Amino acid sequence: MKCHSCGYEDERWLPTCHNCYKEQPLQIPPTVDLKPFVKAIFHEEFEVSREAVQKLIALLTPRGQLIVVYYYGLDGGERLVDRRIGEDFLGVRKQAVNRVRLKWIKYLRHPTRAKILVESKIGS
Ligand SMILES: [Zn+2]
Repeated sequence: MKCHSCGYEDERWLPTCHNCYKEQPLQIPPTVDLKPFVKAIFHEEFEVSREAVQKLIALLTPRGQLIVVYYYGLDGGERLVDRRIGEDFLGVRKQAVNRVRLKWIKYLRHPTRAKILVESKIGS
């Protein structure tokens, strides 16, 4: 994805640009299925707006963003397992990635954050 500030292009979206280190807001492509992400938080599937998910992702640390976005493929890229995220992007073991991922999912499950998704619920 192309950096909003310097134009540097990377294979995938990154929380911060590898060249200029500026934060890169996540733009979720319309093709991305948000249901697995929603299910992880609520244990049920429903449609939510992409804007609401983008808002939530922005609340995480850059490391948390990378893990959650790649695990659920929210940037439109391939969904990756904890091991691949750890080995290819962070240089840590899958257990560490798993721990961080579950921590942030739990954080998003808190009513003050979860309500952002619930309020953006589409249809039903
Ligand atoms: Zn840049």
